[in-house]
Amino acid sequence: MQLSYNNRTALVTGAGRGIGRAIAETLGAAGVRVICVSKNAESCQSAADAIVAAGGQATAMAVDVSDSQAVATAADAMIKEFGTVDILVNNAGITRDGLIMRMKDEEWNMVLQTNLNSAFYWVRALAQPMARQRWGRIINIASVIGLMGNAGQANYSAAKAGLMGFTRSIAREYAKRSVTANIVAPGFIQTDMTAVLDEKITAAILQQIPLNRFGQATDIANMVAYLASEQSAYITGQTFTVDGGMVM
Ligand code: NAP
Repeated sequence: MQLSYNNRTALVTGAGRGIGRAIAETLGAAGVRVICVSKNAESCQSAADAIVAAGGQATAMAVDVSDSQAVATAADAMIKEFGTVDILVNNAGITRDGLIMRMKDEEWNMVLQTNLNSAFYWVRALAQPMARQRWGRIINIASVIGLMGNAGQANYSAAKAGLMGFTRSIAREYAKRSVTANIVAPGFIQTDMTAVLDEKITAAILQQIPLNRFGQATDIANMVAYLASEQSAYITGQTFTVDGGMVM
């Protein structure tokens, strides 16, 4: 099946590295114009440069997605430049792991701000123009940890579970306007985020993955590419685990 996109524009947050980079490059290669957002200007610029070098259309914008005002300003600028952002991929995320008894307010708040509040800020700014044109795709990158929980990741798990509830609510809110909202919940994927795990933890995780390996960023990008396409029009409010069979 050939996926089609009709010259759409996508915003991918956390596009500088890892999963977001793979999503941005996959959409770019499929002919979608991609706005690459990350915190660090060099990081999102290198993603946009790679898409353009491969023959696609892309632009970069450094935005701290945990900052409500920064997101509102950036979203305004995007709408002025591109009209509507048709496809929104909320992918930027961080971890600040620790047992709950030792978790600092700052570690809790930073993870909630970056992984959950950011999605609210972008959707608030960009969903209305999608609704007006009667077409939009919102794809939020959560985690299997939002479904399963994980000792030492109460902040991250709460943020990702919150993102799931948020997504189902906006799916209901915007369905009448043909704007869909779905969740992709990756399992363990080889990126900078999981590179910090030591051998013992990695071995324990592998035991829980039926396919017996970590995933690649492109495994997530392929699912997002489908959900962003014309062909996914009848799918909304769903959670897709891409996790080697970890959650079933
Ligand atoms: P990563 O390699 O650590 O990359 C994270 C990206 O998010 C970077 O581009 C980073 O920007 C950006 N980012 C972080 N904080 C930001 C902020 N405040 N404002 C703007 N951008 C910010 O992470 P990843 O492994 O690709 O993870 C991507 C998403 O998938 C996250 O939401 C993560 O929770 C989720 N996920 C990952 C896994 C996994 O196994 N890797 C599993 C489940 C879910 P800079 O490049 O500028 O630093």
